[in-house]
Amino acid sequence: LSWARSLPKVELHAHINGSVSLDDLRSLALSKNLPFPATLALPGDPGFDIKDVFTLFSSTIYGVVRDQDALRFVVGKVLDAFQADGCVYLELRTTPKKNVAMDMDEYVMVVVGAIEEWLLGRAGSQEGLMHVRLLLSVDRRHSVEQANQIVDLAVKYAPLHTCIVGVDVCGDPTVGGIRHLVPALQKVKPAALKLVVHFAEVAECPEQDELETILSLNPDRLGHCTFVPSHLMDEIIKREITMEICLSSNVVGGTVSAYERHHLIELWKERGYRNLVLCTDDRGIFLNELSHEYLIAMDILGLTKREMEEWAARCVEQYRK
Ligand code: 5GP
Repeated sequence: LSWARSLPKVELHAHINGSVSLDDLRSLALSKNLPFPATLALPGDPGFDIKDVFTLFSSTIYGVVRDQDALRFVVGKVLDAFQADGCVYLELRTTPKKNVAMDMDEYVMVVVGAIEEWLLGRAGSQEGLMHVRLLLSVDRRHSVEQANQIVDLAVKYAPLHTCIVGVDVCGDPTVGGIRHLVPALQKVKPAALKLVVHFAEVAECPEQDELETILSLNPDRLGHCTFVPSHLMDEIIKREITMEICLSSNVVGGTVSAYERHHLIELWKERGYRNLVLCTDDRGIFLNELSHEYLIAMDILGLTKREMEEWAARCVEQYRK
C-alpha cells in the first residue's frame, strides 16, 4: 500500500459529502449537538446495496453537514485525505443545496472558499501542492429550475474561481429520468465547461433512451459505465471519452458481483481501451483509498508495478496541466 500511496495519482470522481469519513461526521455531530445514529447500514452489511448509499446521504450525512461551518470542515477533511493518499490532481464534485443555513449560491461560495483557503494554507509547503478542481453536480431528481440554477452558478463562477471546471450529473440512478435536464445541460459545453455524467450505473435506466440522450450532449467523461450496451461502448471508445472506473463502489454497492467480473477487465484486456481513470466515488462510505483501488486494479488485470506506474503517469500527464 505504501508504494501505491507514493505514486502520484489523479482522482476525478469524488463526491464531497461521500468522501468525508463517517467518524469525522460523528465527531462533528457531537460537537454541534446533532443526532447521529449509533448504528448505520454500512457497506459489508448483509444486503447492503446502492439504494442504501443514497439513504445514508439523506438520512444521516445531510443532517450533519447543514451549515457553513460543517461544510468547510468537511471540505478540509476531504482535501487532507486525498493529499495524504498521494493525489496530485483532485477533481471534487458536490451538489449545491439550499437548506436552512445557505442558498445554493452561498453553498458554492463556501466550498470554493474552503478549497482556496486550504490551498493557501499549503502554498510553499515541502509537499507538492495538489491541484484541486470542482464540478457542480446536478441531481437527476432536481427540477428544471434547480438544474438551471446549478448550471448558471457554474457558468457565473468559473471565470472568477479557476477551481470550478464543470458540471456533473449524479443522483439515484433508479429514480426518474434525465430528459428534463437536457436544456440546462446544453448550456455547459458552450460555456467552455466540462460535462461529466454518471452513466449506465444500473441495468435498467428509468428512461429507455437515457444513454443515447446523454451521449447526444457530447460529455467529456462518463462515470461507472457498468451496463453499457456493446454498440454504445463502441461509440464511447470511438469518441475516446474518458471513463471513470469506481471498482469498490460498484462491488460494495452491489451493481457488480465481484472484482473479477468488473467491466474494467473487458475494457482493458479485450477492447484494449486505455482512456480509463480509477476513482473512489465515496471514500467515506466505501472506506477505499485511491491507492487501494490501484492495488485492486493491478490484481484483477494482472499488471506489474511498472505497468501501473505508467498508467498513473499517463493520467497525471493528461490532467495535471
Ligand atoms: P454531495 O453532492 O452532497 O457532495 O455528495 C453526495 C451526493 O452525490 C449524493 O446525494 C448523490 O446524489 C451523489 N452520489 C454519491 N455517490 C453516488 C453514486 O455512486 N452514484 C450516483 N449516481 N450518485 C452518487
